[in-house]
Amino acid sequence: MALLQIAEPGQSSAPHEHRIAIGIDLGTTHSLVATVLSGKAKVLNDEQGRVLLPSIVHYAQNSTEYGDAAKPFTTTDPKNTIVSIKRFMGRSKADIKFQHPYTLVGEDHQMPAFETAQGRKTPVEISAEILKQLKDRAEASLNNPINGAVITVPAYFDEAQRQATRDAAQLAGLNVLRLLNEPTAAAVAYGLDQDTNLENDRNYVIYDLGGGTFDVSILRFSQGVFEVLATGGHTALGGDDLDRLIVKWAKKQLNIETLDDAEYAHFIVAARKAKEALSDNEATDLKVLDQHLSLDRATFENIIKVALDKTINVCNRVLRDAKLDLSDIQNVVLVGGSTRSYAVQQAVREVFKQEPLCTINPDEVVAIGASITANQLIGNSQDGSLLLDVTPLSLGLETMGGLVERLISRNTAIPVARRQEFTTYQDGQTAMLIHVVQGERDLVEHCRSLGRFVLHGIPPMTAGQARIEVTFQVDADGLLSVAAKETTSGVNAHIDIKPSYGLADDDMQRLLLDGYKFAEEDKNLRHLQETKVEAKRELEALEQALKVDSALLSSVQLTDLNHAKEQLEQQLTTSDIKAIETAVEQLKIHSDAFAAARMNQHIDQALKGTKLDDWSNSN
Ligand code: ADP
Ligand code: MG
Repeated sequence: MALLQIAEPGQSSAPHEHRIAIGIDLGTTHSLVATVLSGKAKVLNDEQGRVLLPSIVHYAQNSTEYGDAAKPFTTTDPKNTIVSIKRFMGRSKADIKFQHPYTLVGEDHQMPAFETAQGRKTPVEISAEILKQLKDRAEASLNNPINGAVITVPAYFDEAQRQATRDAAQLAGLNVLRLLNEPTAAAVAYGLDQDTNLENDRNYVIYDLGGGTFDVSILRFSQGVFEVLATGGHTALGGDDLDRLIVKWAKKQLNIETLDDAEYAHFIVAARKAKEALSDNEATDLKVLDQHLSLDRATFENIIKVALDKTINVCNRVLRDAKLDLSDIQNVVLVGGSTRSYAVQQAVREVFKQEPLCTINPDEVVAIGASITANQLIGNSQDGSLLLDVTPLSLGLETMGGLVERLISRNTAIPVARRQEFTTYQDGQTAMLIHVVQGERDLVEHCRSLGRFVLHGIPPMTAGQARIEVTFQVDADGLLSVAAKETTSGVNAHIDIKPSYGLADDDMQRLLLDGYKFAEEDKNLRHLQETKVEAKRELEALEQALKVDSALLSSVQLTDLNHAKEQLEQQLTTSDIKAIETAVEQLKIHSDAFAAARMNQHIDQALKGTKLDDWSNSN
């Protein structure tokens, strides 16, 4: 072992001090921690030599068990044994629609708490306990306090889920250097950002099939900078689903109609064992209820085809999103325990027509990449490459008529800031409601509301004169802040978006898919709403003008004008865009004459009020 160096008291050279940074993969099924030692990334094991910590916490009355020690309680004490806590992160009670054995308490729209033998525990607290285990493990194994950590999250995580993860890390006493998307971390682990050939852009696909989630991302390495071009996935598709498909097959083979809970749990365990055995063997035995079923690779491939086809569809969609062909992809990286399956590797090989990278253990690759990024961020590495991630959904705000104005579109590289000017709708308007939304649709009601705030103190002006500058800023962790400022007076207001709940799996999928499905319908709805807003604005301006100058019109003209006005008002209660447009044109015929009369009067008045002196003075 090398001798440790000790500096003269007070002489320790701070700039060269090695600071300890760790990377944590906080997984649905497993979590683990890695660090860079002497320039090499390394996963850290516990005292028993285990690297993977099952993401399980068991709360007994007087003690708490974690990981492997907590595992047996999933069957003996399921209510107090929390598994897959990641699925609950950043979700409101109402969002949680999947099955689970727990008693959740709290308001529908708030973060729920689990009722346990040790009282109420929130998802943030439970995740913090897992993170604390890994932090303790790292401190014990490195014999030093930890200066900072990078925690990975799925690319699909929305603001609320990221915020919950950050809160959990802080609660565990970790200094969070950054939240990093899992696929991005995997690319870093393979050194795909270290390519020295700066001539050509390179594109990489990261295929991550874990226990409960599927993520696919396309990364571009260009001019020494790394950017995530596109992401997609399923928040409820993973190795667990493969296990369930095997159980379904086994039931059919054995002519079993129903299984009780205990039997089902037993089948699942057996299925998982068989599945994992098939990664190293051509065939295996599935042992259930004292019966043996023989399962070979070809049969397994058939059984899980439905699940694999889903992942392939997502891959193709993401390629389209990134506007790339297969020939543009230099490498494909496999991530997640499920990519150990031969059938999964074969499917990926076939879709991308190349041999995927899988030399780094697929369970460890994310933590390894996170530790390399952590090492860079804490300042131990001279490497200056910059990692960019993307926003998973578009961000925008509500404008008149319930329409969405998109400021940042989905798949935009972050960190990013976008600014746009808006104006007032009414004369003398002194306040403006800024309503921030997320989603791909054109109408606010079809998107997800993230938050709202009011900009007060706008100086009274004619409608359309005020200049309100709205800035959207998404930081490197994907957290959003929105600011609004009236430029003449300088009054301003802002919010950080920290929603108390996140999106349900289905909602995330729905928001994305609806964006494609309803594109045409949205275009029509947007046109209708815009026409309506414009017509209402005309009506309001006309109303104001009539108050002042109605005397300029003959009684016949006034009747005609009022009639046209009523016609339009009535059409505005319908959704008949043709009829509205016709009514607007009709009104225009009468209101144009009125406008001309007003103009003449103003010119007359102006001329009357002008003395000859004024003319000579101004010349
Ligand atoms: P997560 O990121 O969701 O925590 P992991 O990447 O740890 O998940 O993957 C867990 C999944 O990998 C489980 O479904 C497990 O059955 C599967 N898995 C682990 N080892 C193997 C193997 N040798 N062959 C096939 N699947 C495996
Ligand atoms: Mg994972």
